[in-house]
Amino acid sequence: MAEFKSDIAIARAAKKKPIREIAARLGIDEADIVPYGHDKAKISAGFIKSLEGRPDGKLILVTAINPTPAGEGKTTTTVGLGDGLNRIGKRAAICIREASLGPNFGMKGGAAGGGYAQIVPMEDMNLHFTGDFHAITTAHNLLAALIDNHVYWGNELDIDTRRVTWRRVMDMNDRALRGIVASLGGVANGYPRESGFDITVASEVMAILCLATDLADLEKRLGAIVVAYRRDKTPVFARDLKADGAMAVLLKDAMQPNLVQTLENNPAFVHGGPFANIAHGCNSVVATTTALKLADYVVTEAGFGADLGAEKFFDIKCRKAGLKPAATVIVATVKALKMNGGVAKEDLGTENVAAVTAGCANLGRHIENIRQFGVPAIVAINHFGTDTEAELAAIKAYVAEMGEEGVVCRHWADGSAGITELAEKVAVLADSGAAQFAPLYPDGLGLFEKIETVVKRIYRGAEITADKSVRDQLTAWEEAGYGELPVCMAKTQYSFSTDPTLRGAPDGFAVHVREVRLSAGAGFVVAICGEIMTMPGLPSKPAAETIRLNEAGEIEGLF
Ligand code: ADP
Ligand code: MG
Repeated sequence: MAEFKSDIAIARAAKKKPIREIAARLGIDEADIVPYGHDKAKISAGFIKSLEGRPDGKLILVTAINPTPAGEGKTTTTVGLGDGLNRIGKRAAICIREASLGPNFGMKGGAAGGGYAQIVPMEDMNLHFTGDFHAITTAHNLLAALIDNHVYWGNELDIDTRRVTWRRVMDMNDRALRGIVASLGGVANGYPRESGFDITVASEVMAILCLATDLADLEKRLGAIVVAYRRDKTPVFARDLKADGAMAVLLKDAMQPNLVQTLENNPAFVHGGPFANIAHGCNSVVATTTALKLADYVVTEAGFGADLGAEKFFDIKCRKAGLKPAATVIVATVKALKMNGGVAKEDLGTENVAAVTAGCANLGRHIENIRQFGVPAIVAINHFGTDTEAELAAIKAYVAEMGEEGVVCRHWADGSAGITELAEKVAVLADSGAAQFAPLYPDGLGLFEKIETVVKRIYRGAEITADKSVRDQLTAWEEAGYGELPVCMAKTQYSFSTDPTLRGAPDGFAVHVREVRLSAGAGFVVAICGEIMTMPGLPSKPAAETIRLNEAGEIEGLF
């Protein structure tokens, strides 16, 4: 497989099996899947319910060092490891997020893995897929419409229109809609007020869908969304507008996890896709818990580096869903470590063992951090063609010195055959019973103290600053009964600090909490540290300009 082929060329050549055969491998009857064409299906809610009481498989998290423009390959490694485990005879399934459609029209790039470790059909997965994001967009915007409609018809709930926090969403990068004035045009159109759009993956409905355990829990969480405040600052909930029932109806099908396959015909659940900054960045709880009932090993991915992704996976998803991860794989690459060691992007092609070693400080801190959650870690060195033996050896030596193991993986180039060593070791680690998972902080800790704990113990910041208004807001939420919620940190993914240029393993920095937001339905308090974009824009040369259908009806220019 030495010749170089593009991701899309490899994906198109895949010998896909009918989705009912993939389901059958997991012990799911044809009657229990809801097929979307021949190669995608949802797993019926009734079947999921019938799994209650079955033992769970082992949950394996794939996370990474701080991302760099050089690319790390978390999804690629998640898919590769799932294939690798199946190759060595284990029953393994993969769980990843669905992709946001909008960004594909800005910059090329898919979210289904890469090389010979991909999930198919990758074009569908990166476009409309099974319509889940459409359903989420619609449910979100129904609530928005109900708010303005309520105000229009007399505002019985006394909503302060200056304090409506619920915006609108769309799955498109469109900076023109970041800030808008709604209800212009006269009496018949309501009361003008400032609002705006976020991209669908930033919707609280997305986070709710990903954390809800079933439809009843989904509806309850939708009802708990805070949409606005009154003049006296008391919250107005979605349930006050009687929006929860209709929103749950719109999300009924979207709640059922999607089953697809890898290039090697192994099962992959692709479901939900919340932002990894203002939300928790993991696939749905329903998909993960279902996969755990059907497979002995479930490999899943968390967004961004381990400081954000793994921390939220453990402190939000696992804490709330009662999941007990058995092992963690930290993905590192020679190039990304070099960048963390101070090398500029243009110079990444030249061997530089010293820079790799210097950059390993970033990896080392993530290893230490994972240990704080009581989950054993192993390092996957995702091999790139430009890596040299000396550079790979330097990473292995560093990881060994830290008391862990680094395994070179060639799944991108060779598929499952290139990752059997990691698969064997991960299976042993997961089976060893070494994991003693515990979240970083207890539910009962104060909200500000929770933020402080993450900043000091995970990021290694020296101090945390926040305006009085931010601290007062946290206290007010504690008094209103939200003190038990975990915190969801929103900061740059490129550094442990809030300065994206500070690579490696910085310490002694201050973290400023600029703003806090309550996601009462999802069940977390967002701490915003730095500028966070919830509606991306398109670049000066958007990928959309070259995307088209060719004569064969195939998509060109997307990947
Ligand atoms: P992440 O999930 O960490 O964002 P992905 O797995 O999506 O990263 O990979 C990002 C990009 O890097 C993809 O286009 C993928 O094909 C590419 N990639 C990943 N691993 C390798 C590798 N070993 N060699 C070359 N390209 C790779
Ligand atoms: Mg990914």
